[in-house]
Amino acid sequence: MNKPILLSTPHIGNYELDFVKEAFETNWIAPVGPHVDAFEQEFCQITGAAYAAAVSSGTAALHLALRLVGVEAGDEVFCSTLTFTATANPIVYQGAKPIFIDSDRISWNMNPDLLREALEQRDRLGKLPKAVIVVHLYGQSADIDPILAACNQYDIPLIEDAAESLGATYKGRSPGTFGRIGIYSFNGNKIITTSGGGMLVSPEPELAAKARFLATQARDRAPHYQHSEIGYNYRLSNVLAGIGRGQLLALNERVAARRHNFEMYASTLGKLPGLEFMPEANYGRSTRWLTCLTINSEAFGANREQVRLALATQQIESRPVWKPLHLQPVFSECEYFGGAVAEDLFAHGLCLPSGSNLTSEELARVIDGITTVHYGTHKNQNHLLLL
Ligand SMILES: *Cc1c(COP(=O)(O)O)cnc(C)c1O
Repeated sequence: MNKPILLSTPHIGNYELDFVKEAFETNWIAPVGPHVDAFEQEFCQITGAAYAAAVSSGTAALHLALRLVGVEAGDEVFCSTLTFTATANPIVYQGAKPIFIDSDRISWNMNPDLLREALEQRDRLGKLPKAVIVVHLYGQSADIDPILAACNQYDIPLIEDAAESLGATYKGRSPGTFGRIGIYSFNGNKIITTSGGGMLVSPEPELAAKARFLATQARDRAPHYQHSEIGYNYRLSNVLAGIGRGQLLALNERVAARRHNFEMYASTLGKLPGLEFMPEANYGRSTRWLTCLTINSEAFGANREQVRLALATQQIESRPVWKPLHLQPVFSECEYFGGAVAEDLFAHGLCLPSGSNLTSEELARVIDGITTVHYGTHKNQNHLLLL
């Protein structure tokens, strides 16, 4: 039986355990401590962010971001539709309403023209959204400049969900550092992991400080326990921050490994008819966190689900591209601006195993599995020679 090949698994390097041991030896086993502070500083150095607050998850960071820009019950928040549900859930935690925006085909991310149209329409109605959340999907930045310009025109704060795109660039800078607040995730499947964790960044020191305050139960400065606001228990553990410091040291290698996966897939599978890879927009570098492609079933000879199931029988995990949030039962009442780009990407899109720890044998198995579906036979193994 073949060993399973999973989509994206944790990849631990050489230094994480030393940092964790240090936390044990110094007894900083708490959601506070020197690793937390150092992780924030090192994260700022790597991303170019000005200020950072380490928290327990990317979802927690998004929830804090919405609180910090003043999203309240009854407000509306614009949000990319093609994303994981964790992007929009915190809007609902705040009692606010998500309004979803379609993708463009260049980046698969929020279409800036649609955002502008939606803002113009809302402006005419006298009901502008309280915030915009743009997602940087699958390792690729959205087209930030026109998105930021549209937000600035109406004085609406931009929150960047860069959970999937740490290590990417937009015009040489890190996505997540352009808006009022950016967030990142260190879940087990992301490009670096702390098992679970997240980061909130901002150019405004007050916002990062307020994030830390709200993440530690909103304790006022007083010797007794005094609270003037409702807070959360969202701070990152010092033990996990130690893992994060070790992981950060390998970020560039992880990006290179994931881009290498993509190049192996593209140079082999790219020769088959009907397969099209997620484009890399010309304004920056994608990390290729996940290698994604769309399958034209007529040209390829099998549709996305047939390919996915064929891989599954060989113990290879692949997944459909995110189901757009405006199609999710839980968001069925929400308004939506756009056409069928995200819907089309969902209908035909597949994410391939993309971990930075994949071996060339594993890559060859995936490539062979897909090639085999196309030729409808197990006999053609020639492409393996390409590896
Ligand atoms: C993973 C992810 C999140 C949530 O991060 P967690 O750390 O798992 O809470 C949010 N948005 C996107 C786009 C993600 O992929």
